[in-house]
Amino acid sequence: MKLLEERIRKDGILAEGNVLKVDCFLNHLMDVALFHEMGMEFKRLFADKPINKILTIEASGIGIACIAAECFHVPVLFAKKSQSINLSGEVYATKVQSFTHKRVYDVVVSKKFIGPEDHVLIIDDFLANGCALQGLIQLVRDAGATVEGIGICIEKGFQEGGKLIRDTGIQLESLAIVERMDPTTGEIVFREQ
Ligand code: 5GP
Repeated sequence: MKLLEERIRKDGILAEGNVLKVDCFLNHLMDVALFHEMGMEFKRLFADKPINKILTIEASGIGIACIAAECFHVPVLFAKKSQSINLSGEVYATKVQSFTHKRVYDVVVSKKFIGPEDHVLIIDDFLANGCALQGLIQLVRDAGATVEGIGICIEKGFQEGGKLIRDTGIQLESLAIVERMDPTTGEIVFREQ
């Protein structure tokens, strides 16, 4: 998506440890007009899928998931990062290794809000090694629901997550795929799509 690529080039900051900072428009200050364009693009890419729920993970996936949900006319469920683990029978739970915080979270969704009747589009801001997505896929499957697809704003194509997920056969669409980024020169190269 050219609009997103141009914005990453203009405002993205390359940080230590393969981290691309886009907190001035994506995951801290949020450019809602841009989110609307991204939501419409997800709608176009998954137009043929019977999606009735969007699933994301707190916190930075929630903004884009909500705007996308308006385009799909469906509700958003966000997986909560649980500190105190109450693994009673009321939640589906999994573990996710955080790329940016280098720690493992327990992630939960209530059994009340997802079940076998659900056809789920998973949305997140970034895809790096794929741990967050694999956790979310696990939660959907534990609920007996169907993963209809995955929509990502920015995929870092030089990390393994995209390949791992595509190899499972799930339709994964990333609006911008960074092929290469060089913190010393500031160069960012996107994959042609
Ligand atoms: P993964 O689980 O795929 O390794 O990482 C995905 C999660 O880590 C995303 O939910 C996102 O919040 C965070 N993340 C991964 N790479 C980056 C990055 O380069 N920049 C930012 N801002 N977040 C990232």
